[in-house]
This record gives sequence, C-alpha cells and structure tokens, in this order.
Amino acid sequence: MDYHLKEHYDVKSPIDMACWDILGKHSKLPLCTLLGGRYGESVKLHYHVGQNTPEKTREIVTRFKNEGFECFQLKVGSNPTQDIQRVREIRKMLDPSNILMVDPNTAWLPHQAIRFANAVQDLDVYLEQPCASYEENLHVRRYTNLPFILDESTVDVVRLMQGGLGQVAQGVVLKMGRLGGVTKTKQARDLCVNLGIAARIEDPWGGEIASAAIAHLAHSTPEKYRIPSIDLNNYNSVKIAEGGPVRVNGTIAANKGPGLGITPCMDVLGDPVLTM
Ligand SMILES: [Mg+2]
Repeated sequence: MDYHLKEHYDVKSPIDMACWDILGKHSKLPLCTLLGGRYGESVKLHYHVGQNTPEKTREIVTRFKNEGFECFQLKVGSNPTQDIQRVREIRKMLDPSNILMVDPNTAWLPHQAIRFANAVQDLDVYLEQPCASYEENLHVRRYTNLPFILDESTVDVVRLMQGGLGQVAQGVVLKMGRLGGVTKTKQARDLCVNLGIAARIEDPWGGEIASAAIAHLAHSTPEKYRIPSIDLNNYNSVKIAEGGPVRVNGTIAANKGPGLGITPCMDVLGDPVLTM
C-alpha cells in the first residue's frame, strides 16, 4: 500500500486490519495468536475523563472506580491553573495503586507544561505529550521527573526510537490509524518490548471493529509492557459489529473466535465504499 500511496495511514489501517482478519479466519486462529499469543486472562483499561466541571469529573471517577477501573486518563490543557487543581483533587480520590495519566493533547507551550509539572511533582501522575513537537517535549522532559508518555509524536518507528532512545518517554501510545494498521503497530509494539518502553495500544477513535483490533494487539503484548488500553466501542451509542470487546470490571479480552472475531452489522454500515 505504501508503494502505491504515500501516507494516508488512517485509510490504510482498516484495509490492513481486514487482511489480518482474513488471515485469521483462513487459519482458524484468533488475531492475538497470530500477533504473538494471549498474555494473561484480560487487558486492563483506562477510563478517559474529558474536560468537565469539577462535580461531573468527581461523579465520573467515582462511578468508574466502583466499576473496577484502576487507571484513569484526565484530559487537561485549557487552563493550567484549573488543571493543577483538578489533578490534585482526582489523585486524592484514587487508591495508591491506581494510575492517573494527565493528557493535554499537545495544548501547552513548554513554559506551561513545566509550570504544571512543577506544581504536581509531588503527585503520582504520568504526563502525556504536553507539547506539540518532539523537540518541545524533549525540552520539558529535561525539567521534570514525572513519567512521560508520547502520543501524537509516535507517528512511525523512527519517531518511536527517537522518543524512547532519546530519553523523552518511558511509555508511548500506538494508534493503528496513525501508524498504518495492525502490521505497523505490531512492529512498533515489538520494538517497544525490545527497548523496555511500555505501550498503550489504541486508535484515534473507532467502533467494534477497531476496538477488536486494539484488544487483540493489547492481549498479545506481554503484560509488563502494557499501559492500560481503551475500549472505544463502549463509549459509542451505535454498534457497527457483533462480537466487539465487552467491558468487565475495567478490563476487556480479545475475542476467541477466528480473526478479529467480529461480525460487521452491514445494515448499520450500509453499502461498501470499496470492494476487492
Ligand atoms: Mg494522548
């Protein structure tokens, strides 16, 4: 696909995903087996908490902590002063063993990110890609000891090696739509395992199909190297396939059926835009 069309990884990703599904169905094996095996009984999830009022944020964290989630990702980035207060408050609500990842999604300039990091340096939190460019994040990294996750900068294996080997991040987010599908995400994941970098397998967004691929890739990643993943389908109101990941106590498991283990709902998806 890269020979015929440069970039456009979000378009190539579902085609690559479909090829793996065909291989799995043909060989009668679940995708996680083809990708390296099924490590452990399940895959831990994080719950994504958006930018809400303090009351709403408290309500969400309480609800999903009670549902069994042990990891939360808090969206920040609009106002560093308020963000510092929100992070302090939520960290207090969590158990010591719970993980809190704070994600401004590249919203800050280095001075804002450093101010934030200084203000929460006594807390047990992960800082996720505070600034847009790799160089800005490298700059921030030099001023904080908080564990660092790179997300938007992990666009390919070369950047991944810079991020990890350049000593910016101890964790990375691998999104299939950004990397170009299951094949390239598996390559990146395997590199992470070799470099000792933890990986959070994701997609920019998706329904049951993408979420099934996330579950298989995450489940085939040795547990030591996993950052709790996400079940995107369970945030949606429309189901596009049967057999997508089912959330149980803040975890999911890769479907044991062949391939992705899902059956697309063609009545919801409509006519194919591409036939091969
Ligand atoms: Mg992120």
